[in-house]
Amino acid sequence: MSEEAGVVIIGAGVNGLGTAYHLGKMGYDDVVVLDKSYICSGASGRNGGGIRQQWTSEENIKLALESRKMFEKLNEELEQDLEFYQGGYLVLAFDEDESKDFKKNVKLQNSLGVESQYLTPEEAKEIVPELNISDVVAATFNQTDGTIYPFKVVNGYANRVREMGIDIRDHTEVLDIVTEGDEIKKVKTEAGDIKTDTVVNAAGGWSSQIAEMAGAEIPNKPVRHEIMVTEPYKRFLEPMVISFKHGIYFSQSEHGNVVGGMGNPDEEVGVNQTGSLWFMKNFSKTLIDFIPRFSGVNMIRQWAGLYDTTPDAQPILGTVPEVERFYQINGFSGHGFMVSPVVDKVTAELILGKEPSMDIDRLSVDRFEADDFEAEGAVVG
Ligand SMILES: Cc1cc2nc3c(=O)[nH]c(=O)nc-3n(C[C@H](O)[C@H](O)[C@H](O)COP(=O)(O)OP(=O)(O)OC[C@H]3O[C@@H](n4cnc5c(N)ncnc54)[C@H](O)[C@@H]3O)c2cc1C
Repeated sequence: MSEEAGVVIIGAGVNGLGTAYHLGKMGYDDVVVLDKSYICSGASGRNGGGIRQQWTSEENIKLALESRKMFEKLNEELEQDLEFYQGGYLVLAFDEDESKDFKKNVKLQNSLGVESQYLTPEEAKEIVPELNISDVVAATFNQTDGTIYPFKVVNGYANRVREMGIDIRDHTEVLDIVTEGDEIKKVKTEAGDIKTDTVVNAAGGWSSQIAEMAGAEIPNKPVRHEIMVTEPYKRFLEPMVISFKHGIYFSQSEHGNVVGGMGNPDEEVGVNQTGSLWFMKNFSKTLIDFIPRFSGVNMIRQWAGLYDTTPDAQPILGTVPEVERFYQINGFSGHGFMVSPVVDKVTAELILGKEPSMDIDRLSVDRFEADDFEAEGAVVG
């Protein structure tokens, strides 16, 4: 049996459901959200919950700053404690080049309204007294950065979206997107067809596959990233600590569990969500080098998810040249949770033909064709 929907959103992660939430808030509920697995089964349910505004590109700083302000109001909107804890992000530099870049980054961040500070290693140690600063050259810190509990955010959106009358169908895989000329006609799923002229590609690590179904090309590539959680310990770590050079990040939750991950520079492109011994060994060793007090803590769970990477480590937003009303909200690389509030809102505005509340033109897929892009330099892992 064929049905109809005004908008079909593919992917029930933070960005698919966040876009549905904003469409609903704007009074539009003729929407179906589809996911081939369970809600939050993609990267949205596998990440570190880090919310950071300390970026090197103007676009990312603006998206992250506006999103942080929106996260601050989200408890109230979703009527739930989302565990948004603003203990700051401490970013460590391990050589003079990094330290020089950090000074430049802070200047740009400050000029755009992010109150980050450049610190000496001793000042960094005042924030995390257990930190081994023997190889640290400098640091930056921003107090309003922090962490949030991803499942609560995504399920909070899902509950609200259902109350708004929007249909979420999990375990419903999209098999094809049928087009005629440059128009979308329907979405084929394993449970039947849905007629529509508007599709949102919020499929994270699978977004290139979805684009291909519609005859569009995006340069996204999925890359595995691994992460772990320890048993709960008495809380001593306030900020998220990260190093670009080592590809590591870690924080301690309100409940005392340490959550941290690390990228493998030799990771191959592809859909792979299995754990590896490489991660267990290298993450543990690096973590203990950073904070010797972590020696002997027990890891209780380790898992992996996909970074949906792009050539400049920045998201792809807006429509594509090949097909009309085919909206992209993907390619977030390692930071699609922290910028989700504003990009979800802007995507909903574009779909409804409203003036976008933030200019995202520079993040359209055309930038790769025109070779007019600058890589974000502050990705961990
Ligand atoms: C280990 C790790 C740590 C991270 N840490 C952070 C962090 O600290 N802070 C941060 O901001 N970001 C972080 N990220 C990145 C962040 O998690 C992602 O950018 C973000 O969650 C992407 O959300 P999304 O909704 O766009 O995609 P996803 O959450 O990946 O959702 C995509 C959904 O699409 C569905 N789908 C795919 N194909 C189909 C199909 N054919 N039919 C139907 N459904 C389909 C999938 O099942 C999936 O549920 C991290 C990522 C990883 C892997």
